[in-house]
Amino acid sequence: MIGRPQVGVLAVQGAFAEHEEALRAVGADACQVRIADELDTLDGLVIPGGESTTFGLVAARSGLLERLRDVIGAGLPVFGTCAGMIMLARETTAGGQALVGGMDTVVRRNAFGRQVASFEADLDMSVVGGAPVPAVFIRAPWIETHGPRVEVLASCGGHPVAARQGDMLVTAFHPEFTDDRRVHALFVDMVRASVARRAADDAAGGAVRVWAQ
Ligand code: GLN
Repeated sequence: MIGRPQVGVLAVQGAFAEHEEALRAVGADACQVRIADELDTLDGLVIPGGESTTFGLVAARSGLLERLRDVIGAGLPVFGTCAGMIMLARETTAGGQALVGGMDTVVRRNAFGRQVASFEADLDMSVVGGAPVPAVFIRAPWIETHGPRVEVLASCGGHPVAARQGDMLVTAFHPEFTDDRRVHALFVDMVRASVARRAADDAAGGAVRVWAQ
């Protein structure tokens, strides 16, 4: 029986309060993460939207970028929205900015163009079941190309805007800005499954996994 998993929301830059609220609504304990040491006690992590270049600069300066690479590489479940999706990409089409990486994706920033910088759309996202998911896009990226391990979960205009690779989930849109909690629920399910797997590993006498060395 797993209680409420502890999910951190990176509060370096961008919109994080709405994520905390959404996570709590689907049964997680949410907390804000500002420094690298706060990553150690988490079961999952959200990287919110904002400005990915600013985030990269701030996180590189504080050593957070390196620690994020370590914990995500060690398997900490992570959910990146918009700028968070950019931070988790292997590369951007323009290149030249500091990323965390982890997902086998190349993303195009501000992909929907200036005229339609912000818009809402209803997306088919069968992985969460039921009706289409209302999605808010704000100067959003899309996934330009991706490797075979990346599972596309939703597209907009023929471009992937939600995807999963192992315990990493990304959306180009902002599910935290609507009342529909199904995408956060999907992520918290991934977190619970990860907690259960680690508990089973430990019970079987496997090495205790720690996120950071
Ligand atoms: N356009 C931003 C970037 O490229 C992302 C916007 C967002 O997170 N809403 O970083």
